[in-house]
Amino acid sequence: MTVSVLWFRRDLRLSDHPALLAALDAGTSVVPVFVLDPRLIDVDRPRTRRLVASVRALAAELEGRLVVRAGDPVEVIPALAHEVGAETVHVTRETTPFGRRRDAAVDAALGRDGRRLVATGTPYAAGPGVVVTRAGAPYRVFTPFARAWRQHGSPLPAMPPLRIPWFAGDVGGVALPAASADQGGPGDRDRARPDGDAAGEVPARRRWLDFLADGGLGHYDRDRDRPDLDATSRMSIPLKYGEIHPRTLLADIAAHPEGRSDGAATFVTELIWREFYADVLWHRPDSAWQDLRPELSRMAHDSGTATDRLVSAWREGRTGYPIVDAGMRQLLAEGWMHNRLRMVTASFLTKDLHVWWPVGARHFLDHLVDGDLASNNHGWQWVAGTGTDAAPYFRVLNPIRQAHRFDPLGDYVRRWVPELAHVEGAAVHEPWNDPNGYGHGYPTRIVDHDDERREALMRYELARR
Ligand code: FAD
Repeated sequence: MTVSVLWFRRDLRLSDHPALLAALDAGTSVVPVFVLDPRLIDVDRPRTRRLVASVRALAAELEGRLVVRAGDPVEVIPALAHEVGAETVHVTRETTPFGRRRDAAVDAALGRDGRRLVATGTPYAAGPGVVVTRAGAPYRVFTPFARAWRQHGSPLPAMPPLRIPWFAGDVGGVALPAASADQGGPGDRDRARPDGDAAGEVPARRRWLDFLADGGLGHYDRDRDRPDLDATSRMSIPLKYGEIHPRTLLADIAAHPEGRSDGAATFVTELIWREFYADVLWHRPDSAWQDLRPELSRMAHDSGTATDRLVSAWREGRTGYPIVDAGMRQLLAEGWMHNRLRMVTASFLTKDLHVWWPVGARHFLDHLVDGDLASNNHGWQWVAGTGTDAAPYFRVLNPIRQAHRFDPLGDYVRRWVPELAHVEGAAVHEPWNDPNGYGHGYPTRIVDHDDERREALMRYELARR
């Protein structure tokens, strides 16, 4: 009898799982393990709570056979492999700077005992580093990357195994952190989480099929920018934890009656953004926390006590700009924010408050349940103008115009800003024009957007000289 180990990380599912198939090929029985790495586990963080909930759902699918160990994987994984006599430990290839370093160290530790770490597949349809220019160089701009990515194509989902012979021996483990710690996002005290946000592969699949069945693809290009509508897939969270793989999404789209619609094409483009940012991070791990493009390295940013007060107002949703505050409050309450709001609030911090983008990126990662280093930090760099976009800095989003355009009836703002619930229609976006706009305690504006826009563009010109 040969035994292999399957070490779950960002792939908390059983279907469309190439590393699981590789583990099955290598062993007559498979030991499934999840490692609680103290460097990544912080039960106060929404991401950890969701991770634990997702692992719990996987453990239930495995009918209790998931082995949970705690500690540094460099010690835990070789010890487990030794204990069960496994020559190979199978993983989905990790692509982040931390994950790559950790896996190299685990592989080296296994090697000292004559064992191996075998990486199969990635959390992406085309793994980072695969789509390159004819000259073999990485792409730095999205549109040509997307073109090449489409030409490369996505493989079909991995076949489901006929049966999975999980290891039947007695392998000890530790308990997952208490269930109360994974019962929701940070704001579940105040608000119910959106339907369909339950953790695990089965709810993820259900949510996705509901999105398809409700005509989500067909409407996607028209409605995806509207935070007042529930018009996006909310797949970012299942994708983050690997409860579902983008290959599965792409195959379902291709087979769907609306799979050739403009909406479907736009949806695929969004998935390609996720692939692109992972690819950029793969080639430039330093870009996680440093400007990808050096042109703005001399840009003057604000800091100090007065700025700290402004940043606190931004974090808590008290800027006096209703659309910004609604987005920031949704983030704190739900651990999720609509893409348009991520852009508007990021623009406000970097261009209206003149704060360096990593300050905001850190805050988002601390609160987003889908917080993902590649998509988040490159999303921030895109808005800040230091990232992959070619002509970015002039794009200073006007929070008032954005509000009227994307929340035309003001419903989204009223949902998240109760002090403005009495203001009807689109007037909610400009409480300063409403005689009773400040009647229920809504704060006045902390800065003047037109002044700060001018200031931002002036700093930009100076930095380029
Ligand atoms: P949908 O509109 O249904 O899109 C489908 C999928 O496409 C998403 O689930 C996601 O995987 C991908 N996608 C969509 N838009 C983008 C994008 N702009 N960049 C990369 N992938 C995209 N996404 C994260 O997954 N994690 C993050 O931490 C994150 N931080 C962001 C920070 C900023 C400043 C910005 C501007 C964007 C960020 N995004 C992040 C991208 C995007 O906002 C979310 O993926 C999206 O809002 C998730 O909602 P959804 O699943 O309903 O998206």
